[in-house]
Amino acid sequence: MLSQLHKRLYIFIIWAALPAWGFAQTTKPVVPPDSVIIDSLDDDEIEDAVDSVFHYELVRPLGFRFDTLLIPSKNIYNTWDTNFIDPYRENMVLTFDSISLVLCDSSGGCSFVQPCTNAATSGFGYRRWGWGYKFHYGIDFGLKTGDPVYAAFDGVVRVSQYNPGGYGYMVIIRHYNGFETLYGHFSKLLVYPGQSVRAGDVVGLGGSTGHSTGSHLHFEIRYKGKPIDPTRFIDFNTHTVLKDTVTVSTKNFDHLRPTPQQIYWQNYYKNLHTKKKVLYYTVRRNDNIYSIATKFHTTVKRLYQINGINRRTKLKKGRTIRVR
Ligand SMILES: [Zn+2]
Repeated sequence: MLSQLHKRLYIFIIWAALPAWGFAQTTKPVVPPDSVIIDSLDDDEIEDAVDSVFHYELVRPLGFRFDTLLIPSKNIYNTWDTNFIDPYRENMVLTFDSISLVLCDSSGGCSFVQPCTNAATSGFGYRRWGWGYKFHYGIDFGLKTGDPVYAAFDGVVRVSQYNPGGYGYMVIIRHYNGFETLYGHFSKLLVYPGQSVRAGDVVGLGGSTGHSTGSHLHFEIRYKGKPIDPTRFIDFNTHTVLKDTVTVSTKNFDHLRPTPQQIYWQNYYKNLHTKKKVLYYTVRRNDNIYSIATKFHTTVKRLYQINGINRRTKLKKGRTIRVR
């Protein structure tokens, strides 16, 4: 018989190993292009690149070295991480200097390619989820398992792995235009981190892995790790870029601001844990113990208690009572 502890240990090992096992099941090692050499101006960048190579050694042929000079949009992003969706951890809701990102060069050439040519089935924003609503941070496109999914712009693959948070087999590409794109629910990954891709290259095959109820592509455009509404500058019906230059400002992240309900509950729990300061109130004309209790979100019983008074006490105008 297995002891309870052993059982737990085995379950943990299986749980911890599952993503790697799943990866091995659905992806065959992809042979990288010509080896590139780490050659950078900045020690931190070398360290990050070495990390990314280290993490990927298990699933990628040996002998591949990553050239940090190839990292796109280094002027915007401070790190290159092959595991996390948002390693930047910046608060985009706070004011920051708006930035203009160029989608199309001066000759008018736009390298955008629609990642999936089928019609969009769900958009960016709140949508029904079970009994309530949940924010949907991307665009869904219907597809059949095995259909190719294309890179939206030129760039370098940053993440290509199973995401246990719901995206399933997922690819994230860092682009030269400053955005990152995320593709989820693949049945098969066809690229590896550090791989350079052109717009239109197949990055994986569509599927229904992760939190998904049917085969579809979940597609997001992100800036500094946070999703933004791509329909503001891309028309997914005509497969075209609507603006040559996109200005990204804190307005693009309004959907990340807490809702009034969230703020209410945040404050509620904060107040539960912080000792309330003593507060006094001067009784006005027409006040009574009930109206004061309501005004200060307390109870009549509590007011009696902290003031040493009772229901027979008359509250005359001008009297100071403690309300907290
Ligand atoms: Zn989706």
